[in-house]
Amino acid sequence: MEIGKTYGGFEVGPIRPPSEAKSLLLRVTRNCPWNRCKFCGLYKGTKFSIRPKEHVIKDIDLVKRWTDLFKAAEHVDAHTRKTMINDLINQLGEEQSRLYSYAFSWYQSGMKSIFLQDSNSLVIKPDDLIEIITHIKKQFPETERITSYARSETVVRISDEDLKRMADAGLNRIHIGMESASDTVLKLVDKGTTKANHILAGQKVKAAGIELSEYYMPGLGGNEYSDLNALETADALNQINPDFIRIRTLAVTDRSPLKEDYEQGIFTRTNDTKMIEELLLMIENLKGITSTIISSDHILNLLPEAEGRLPNDKEKIAAALKSYLDLPESEKINYRIGRRTGVMNTIQDLNNSVRRNHVQRIIEKYGINHNNVDAVVDDLLNNFI
Ligand code: SF4
Repeated sequence: MEIGKTYGGFEVGPIRPPSEAKSLLLRVTRNCPWNRCKFCGLYKGTKFSIRPKEHVIKDIDLVKRWTDLFKAAEHVDAHTRKTMINDLINQLGEEQSRLYSYAFSWYQSGMKSIFLQDSNSLVIKPDDLIEIITHIKKQFPETERITSYARSETVVRISDEDLKRMADAGLNRIHIGMESASDTVLKLVDKGTTKANHILAGQKVKAAGIELSEYYMPGLGGNEYSDLNALETADALNQINPDFIRIRTLAVTDRSPLKEDYEQGIFTRTNDTKMIEELLLMIENLKGITSTIISSDHILNLLPEAEGRLPNDKEKIAAALKSYLDLPESEKINYRIGRRTGVMNTIQDLNNSVRRNHVQRIIEKYGINHNNVDAVVDDLLNNFI
């Protein structure tokens, strides 16, 4: 599976979770080993590969050389600092020196967290992953969080003992794209896993003492399976009790195979209002969950304010969703267009006359109305991502 045996320099993959904005991104694998989810166009046309662990370790050591220099340069005058930087650039060569500003941003943010890329770092041999994590901790003892994406299907194949070893080495948060726990929906979008394995994987991660972040995707069941998507997902999350539930609204982009299913009538698209109804149903059916953060930190979500900590904030989150659902139709259109064009950030912005007027001008200019608003929003979302 390994390609590119020659070290080609420090690599950064295409995405990270929004919550990893300040993290150093270390690329352990390239692309996605599954790459079949119909809603995801991110890695389509790319080939999965595992980077040799020696290359990842070289990346770590390269960042370390820069952060050591930044530390040392804090106590010297500007001239000496410039000389130190130039010396390191000469030693590393132009290519590797491009890392300078990237490493500097991480250094300035306090070097608190590292995210292992790309889509499923746990797919590599457990011993290799543990060696990489151990090396990170050795080089950057100040780092408090090491995080990775993982697929449920991958996690269920890892022994509890190996997961515990990963946790002991320093892996302390895993993001799993559950998206849905309805077997019907999972099959419809070719997610390549089942509700049972989502639950098992989540429980294994928690039992290993690793923080767990589960993603839920309102809209993934289309109109037919919207309720099923909400109810089955809530049921699975109740059994897992993750540390985070992150809302990631579906967008059917031109690059995702789901677009073809939609055009052929196999998949029906829920609009914003239906997705909020679905999300409300899911939240109302979360039961017995303790100390879980509901996060609405994705740009595609209509209501970023629908977040909080369960169990105490359940009513607050539901109220945020209901405040949108209770709006008259014309106000729903105003807010949808406001949010999707970046003019409004929360529903409270409907009370801001400057923003309202701005949105009104957009609506008039493009002739947006009840009949075409869904298509306009789909276009806007497509351009967003
Ligand atoms: S959603 Fe995740 S697992 Fe599915 S194809 Fe995209 S990157 Fe791969």
